[in-house]
Amino acid sequence: MQGKDLIVILGDQLSHALSALEASSAENSVVLMAEVAEEASYVWHHKKKLAFVFSAMRHFSQALSADGWDVRYRRLDDEHNCGSLTGEVSALLEEGGFERVVMTEAGEQRVSAAFEAVSKDWVVPLVVLPDARFLATREAFASWADGRKQLRMEYFYREMRRKTGLLMQGDQPEGGQWNFDAENRKPAKADLFMPQPFRVEPDAITQDVLEMVERERGAHFGVLDGFWFAVERPQALEALEQFTREALPRFGDYQDAMLTGEPFLYHSVLAQYINIGILDPLEVCRRVERAYYEGQAPLNAVEGFIRQIIGWREYMRGIYWLKPEGYTDQNFLGARRDLPRFYWTGETGMACMAAAIGQTRQEAYAHHIQRLMVTGNFAMLAGIDPKQVHEWYLAVYADAYEWVEAPNVIGMSQFADGGFLGSKPYAASGNYINKMSDHCGGCKYSVSQKTGEGACPFNALYWDFLARNEGKLRGNPRLGQMYATWGRMSEIKQQEYLQSAAKTLEEIETL
Ligand SMILES: Cc1cc2nc3c(=O)[nH]c(=O)nc-3n(C[C@H](O)[C@H](O)[C@H](O)COP(=O)(O)OP(=O)(O)OC[C@H]3O[C@@H](n4cnc5c(N)ncnc54)[C@H](O)[C@@H]3O)c2cc1C
Ligand code: SF4
Repeated sequence: MQGKDLIVILGDQLSHALSALEASSAENSVVLMAEVAEEASYVWHHKKKLAFVFSAMRHFSQALSADGWDVRYRRLDDEHNCGSLTGEVSALLEEGGFERVVMTEAGEQRVSAAFEAVSKDWVVPLVVLPDARFLATREAFASWADGRKQLRMEYFYREMRRKTGLLMQGDQPEGGQWNFDAENRKPAKADLFMPQPFRVEPDAITQDVLEMVERERGAHFGVLDGFWFAVERPQALEALEQFTREALPRFGDYQDAMLTGEPFLYHSVLAQYINIGILDPLEVCRRVERAYYEGQAPLNAVEGFIRQIIGWREYMRGIYWLKPEGYTDQNFLGARRDLPRFYWTGETGMACMAAAIGQTRQEAYAHHIQRLMVTGNFAMLAGIDPKQVHEWYLAVYADAYEWVEAPNVIGMSQFADGGFLGSKPYAASGNYINKMSDHCGGCKYSVSQKTGEGACPFNALYWDFLARNEGKLRGNPRLGQMYATWGRMSEIKQQEYLQSAAKTLEEIETL
């Protein structure tokens, strides 16, 4: 008699169209899903992230069972839990009757390497299938990158537009331009009708998971109360509809804005659903494209949104897999300082940082500009060890998986890869934050004061960062103007900046 397939479904592969499911059938397979300590604890994950992933896994396993699949589900608190994914597979294989183990390629190199190593001892082969949820396979991205002197997202993005036909008129981009970012840099004003993401009341399964996470992982980062994430596909589709209807029209205009008390602004808050598999990235883009053609959202919003997904998201994944070894160990700028404690507590007098970290603790969410230009910018200016910064980002966001988080942090935000991913460091003084937010008005520091007691810490740190890294950064054409400005300053002024920065760094834990 022919053996069955043992299909392994990882926690971020909760998609009915998953290649591993499509390669087999309900009659001829056993599906294994497991909540394991190894995955729950390799970084200090936010409690809401753990609850979200486990609840979504349980809902997905129920949906598979209802469709006739034979699912073996291992709970985190099950006394026979082996603690690792590969351990769970090995244990099930010992029951016998299997012909092969089938899985869709893991998103993270750590998981992929573990399966590759352990499968050598299995008596049946491991079949790893491409993850069809991405537009570009790893191989296609590698061949696009091959031979290019510089990798830039914009060119890759245009290929993805052509490939999908999204916002295309024949071979020309809709509206005659590929990119409408120039229209997307407006500061926002408080608005009584600010849209909110779609919220779901926890059901019995989620309640059970919330209790388990508090019991088993109570010491982890973040607040568990007020959990409202969608945990299954129909709810996530409603979240997509609500975003498209209420926030998308202004997504482009206010993409870079920050407002006190408004953690979500006009962002979609869909990344956690897309990354886990309960929404498909292309279906999200097609829905948003339809809103443009039906006159519900302007082109700058729709193009900007689609670019984030078929451009940036795909590009990040491609870069991550181009560098299978050591991407997260890079430290081009030689930054060695420890991550300050306030990254975990949110207790700092810097209003912009307190807002970004505070909402991160509460919601496991901050939007892109908070991640890049507030917490990321501060860490880079202060010379924080990029590996510690990477581990923080991987832990604290509900959408964080290494394949997307690491390139965003190591490459885009910390410039620790020396410009492999992006063309310049995203460094900015308090001036930028003041322009794009309303935080400075309520801050203990003064954004207009450049140095000395009470000055915005970002101001002196900005010049100190440029001066400290001059040997490595001066040749960067995109920083030429800033180095010219630095060079024109009097020596006294330069010393004031450097001394003010040194004091800030000395007292960093008390900022
Ligand atoms: C330092 C840093 C760390 C980040 N870590 C993560 C992470 O762990 N996981 C993650 O999914 N994104 C990460 N991002 C990218 C981006 O900030 C988040 O995708 C976004 O904030 C999620 O919120 P949203 O769904 O409301 O996105 P929106 O602003 O509504 O954007 C729409 C979608 O575009 C995609 N997207 C936007 N920007 C990026 C980007 N730079 N890279 C990849 N996809 C993008 C996401 O799928 C997102 O849902 C990080 C960015 C920075 C600067
Ligand atoms: S003054 Fe500086 S620290 Fe305070 S909110 Fe503004 S940018 Fe942030």
